[in-house]
Amino acid sequence: MSEQHLWPTQLDQAGRALAAESAHYAALGWMRGTSGNLSVVLGRNPLRLAVTASGMDKAELTPRDVVVVDEHGAAVPGQPGPARRPSAEAGLHARIARVAGAGAVVHVHALAPVIAAEHWPLGVALRDLEMLKGLGRGAHDDEVTIPVIANGQDMRVLGDAFEAGFRADTPALIVARHGLYVWGDDLYQARHRAECLDWLLRFVVATRTGHAHLAAGNGDAVVLSERGTS
Ligand SMILES: [Zn+2]
Repeated sequence: MSEQHLWPTQLDQAGRALAAESAHYAALGWMRGTSGNLSVVLGRNPLRLAVTASGMDKAELTPRDVVVVDEHGAAVPGQPGPARRPSAEAGLHARIARVAGAGAVVHVHALAPVIAAEHWPLGVALRDLEMLKGLGRGAHDDEVTIPVIANGQDMRVLGDAFEAGFRADTPALIVARHGLYVWGDDLYQARHRAECLDWLLRFVVATRTGHAHLAAGNGDAVVLSERGTS
């Protein structure tokens, strides 16, 4: 049986999961405009991923708003659904899925990771925080550094930078002035990791000055208030 014959069932399942997860992230304010994208691995030999379609409001995706891409993030011929375009960022999803062995990759434009990368462009260090358990790391005496790479539009360049700093025990990557990638065995694990990491990054950004506070409510409303200026 050709791989295309397997797609309709797999894609329907993947499409439902990706639409539901996208709506969740959109509600957090992490997929503003049409930004961000999510993917799940459909098969590994050859590598195939279902990725959310480009240019669509992530709060309103249907199960058909997904594209099957190859190991370079390019759309594979013979898509069963309506014509959809994969994001250019699908290339980095595929690279992460291959290098990290991830089953799902989440890319969101949350604010805290980008602010953290602005402060620590060589990597964001985290330690002695209970939430690190959510990344599969230790709550004590475990120095975790979230890699930061420069932004760019060539996914091969970003992929090379990711791979150069990749550690199997650190399932996340910040792209400076852009956003966050987090991965896991499935969308569920990737979501939990992304939520915990967002908390951790808000913490280090807020405590850096000692006078910062987090605004309540909206998912990425990180407000820094310097002493004497508020
Ligand atoms: Zn992006």
